[in-house]
Amino acid sequence: METIFSKIIAREIPADIVYEDELVLAFLDITPVNYGHTLVVPKEHYINAIDAAPETLAHMMKVAQKIAQALKKSGLADGINLVMNNETAAGQEVFHAHLHVIPRLVDDNTYQKPRYVTLKEDAYQETKERLKAALAE
Ligand code: AMP
Repeated sequence: METIFSKIIAREIPADIVYEDELVLAFLDITPVNYGHTLVVPKEHYINAIDAAPETLAHMMKVAQKIAQALKKSGLADGINLVMNNETAAGQEVFHAHLHVIPRLVDDNTYQKPRYVTLKEDAYQETKERLKAALAE
């Protein structure tokens, strides 16, 4: 599947690459939440975390940790959000798996926490049962 990220991986279009190994590429996001916002992208095509090979996801997280440590060490971050948007409903726009490593500074108010649903006890319990049943399949 051809996406903007597969073109970056194939070096057909440029990107500000900060890290590469045999499985992943990491480059700066062109519309960053903060300076240093980096995307960790597997070279093999997966749509997102839902279809990706677990080993690939684990490696993406390993690289994200390395980048998070470097962002803190270089003074570009006080904290880090690690985010994957999976499917349109969750805000995914590029359909090649990617993990956002988002540097945060104290009181920057950039990446906001979500609003919470008003909890209804019966719905809360029902979701627990539905999730447990699906996990047991
Ligand atoms: P998502 O909503 O999780 O699919 O996010 C896709 C991200 O890819 C956005 O934050 C975009 O700014 C970023 N993006 C899109 N095109 C490029 C590009 N050519 N180089 C770097 N980042 C990109």
